[in-house]
Amino acid sequence: MDEDFKTLNSKLSEIGDIGAAIALMYWDQSTYMPEGSAMARGKQLGTLSKMSHEMFVDPSIGQLLKKLADMESSNPYDSFAASIIRVTKREYDKATKVPSELVSRISKHNAEKGQAWTKARPANDFTMVQPYLAKTVDYGRELADCFPGYEHIADPLIDSADYGMKASSIRKLFSELREELVPMVRKITECEPIDDSFFKQAYDKDMQFEFGKMLAKDIGYSFDTGREDMAPHPFTISFSIHDVRITTRIDPNDPRDALFSTVHEAGHGMYEQGVDPAFEGTALAGGTSSGVHESQSRLWENIVGRSKGFWKFYYPKLQKQFSVQLSNVTLDQFYKGVNKVDRSLIRTDADEVTYNLHVMLRFDLELDMLEGKLDTADLADEWKKRFKADMGIEVPNDTDGVLQDIHWYHSMIGGQFQGYTLGNVMASQFYEAALKAHPEIPRQIENGKFDTLHTWLKNMIYQHGSKFTANELVEQVTGKPLTIEPYMKYLKEKYSEIYGIQL
Ligand code: ZN
Repeated sequence: MDEDFKTLNSKLSEIGDIGAAIALMYWDQSTYMPEGSAMARGKQLGTLSKMSHEMFVDPSIGQLLKKLADMESSNPYDSFAASIIRVTKREYDKATKVPSELVSRISKHNAEKGQAWTKARPANDFTMVQPYLAKTVDYGRELADCFPGYEHIADPLIDSADYGMKASSIRKLFSELREELVPMVRKITECEPIDDSFFKQAYDKDMQFEFGKMLAKDIGYSFDTGREDMAPHPFTISFSIHDVRITTRIDPNDPRDALFSTVHEAGHGMYEQGVDPAFEGTALAGGTSSGVHESQSRLWENIVGRSKGFWKFYYPKLQKQFSVQLSNVTLDQFYKGVNKVDRSLIRTDADEVTYNLHVMLRFDLELDMLEGKLDTADLADEWKKRFKADMGIEVPNDTDGVLQDIHWYHSMIGGQFQGYTLGNVMASQFYEAALKAHPEIPRQIENGKFDTLHTWLKNMIYQHGSKFTANELVEQVTGKPLTIEPYMKYLKEKYSEIYGIQL
């Protein structure tokens, strides 16, 4: 193998080790760290992040990449060598375009803003964070200007989460979706509401945790190279292809939170665990974009985990565990209960049908702020106005409105939310392709067997890590570009049956 290529990989592997240490510290911070250690941990994370950034933007990496240009062009696009060089070069160019002075200004600003948000949200006082947000918008523009030639000012921000996606194409996709979803939500919510009161009682926390772990293991998440812990906001994190951890949250008075967040995170985890081990320590290790990542978690959580077939197999087991709570609840009642559509204020509590309306609202507001059409001083009111128009309910306060999600308050404005809905849309398109290849999958799910689907996803998606962009992957796996059709078909069929109406 080329000496330069070897040197590049050994440098990247060292940077990867520091990245793993950062991730491990972050995992600890979000699970077991004593509250009083926050300051010390912040400093440690700052030092390691700076170190890894400096190592990566070092001119020696740029020189190596230059020397390897021939190796990239002489090898096939999807080869190991060409892919590593291409993806590393892309990341390197991005990292070196942004002055480290700007990175550090933004990270300091975000830390202060996050502090302000933790007080503003419970106080229901948007004015406490508004000046910070105004500055965030300015920083977003400054950051975008490091990438001249963009089509839309949000594109460089979207690009860092969903490489290759643009504001214009997402906007088009989202407006098609909104046109279908708004009347769909109206039709469903005009029906008799589903009774899900049986969920609202005490369910033993340990038993919930164990049941979730069994589901994660059964669908294919490996506890040999993973583990599950508790966290206030469930997440998945990877320190290596051989160490991918998931977390969950348990509501002692409603088992849905733990059940579905566990299956969701297991979906993320399986993606990370399924990357080709040869990619360990390179830019190819790890999922390719926030949209594709969400497609993998949502495919397992919603398409599989909220399907009738899945609960045909698991409901008798759950009923046995929680016989006091569920003995009089039929499979059909349970299935409807886990798929209840309800207009609600909080994105993370939303059902499959209304969920995307929450996301699209945020995406549109991000673009309007960056474009200068919407002043942050008017953001809270604009939120209420648009929420009412899309969802049909009044937002009673900012705590459950514009202040509810952490994203804008700990990070940038722009590129924060589109991945969730892209993921929903992709999940259906991927699943449709899986069924075409293996029509037996739904029957297997009814029997608690997930190997065929898991192996297909591994071969078609997981193993490639970041080798292909989201758009390339969608084309390659499904034979067509991203389209809302399979997703709308899925929602219409499922919810027409559940609500006994024609959607
Ligand atoms: Zn997720």
